[in-house]
Amino acid sequence: MHTAREVHTIRAFAPEIVTGLLRAGYPVRLVVTGRSMHPTIRHGEAVLVAPVNVQSLRFGDVVLYVRNNRLWAHRVIRRRMVSGVWILVTQGDGACRPDPPIAASRVVGRVVAVERSGRWHRLDTRGRRYWGLIRYSIRRWRCRLGFCRWCPHFA
Ligand SMILES: [Zn+2]
Repeated sequence: MHTAREVHTIRAFAPEIVTGLLRAGYPVRLVVTGRSMHPTIRHGEAVLVAPVNVQSLRFGDVVLYVRNNRLWAHRVIRRRMVSGVWILVTQGDGACRPDPPIAASRVVGRVVAVERSGRWHRLDTRGRRYWGLIRYSIRRWRCRLGFCRWCPHFA
C-alpha cells in the first residue's frame, strides 16, 4: 500500500490532471461522488487509484476511465478482443445496466482501495474482485425482478 505522502489528492473533477499524474506513474487519491458503485464505494468516500498497464486488467477490477470529459470508476464485467483491441464493458456495482463498451486505452488507472472509517480497504484482491462481480449480478437480478430503488437514477 502507498504511503499518504506519495498520494496526490484531487477533489474537483479535473480529468486531465488526474490522467496526467497516473500516466506519469503517480498514484492518485480521489473523492468519489455519486452512488453508482454503492455499497462498494459510497458517495463522498476517497479511493486510491494506481497507474495500470491495460494489458494487466482483470475481470472484476474497478477501473478509472474517461468518458465525456468526466472520470468514472466502474467494475470491468466483460472483456473481449476486437480487431486486436481490448474492449471493456463496465458497470457500477449499484447500477442496473452496463455502461457502453470502451476501448481499454481509455482506462487511466485501477482503483486499488477505498478509505472507510480512516482505513484503506483493498478492492484489488481476487476475493474482492469476485465478490464485486457477485454483487453486480445480484443488483441486475433485483432490477429484473422489479425490486429496484435506483432505476430512475441510472436509466
Ligand atoms: Zn434497476
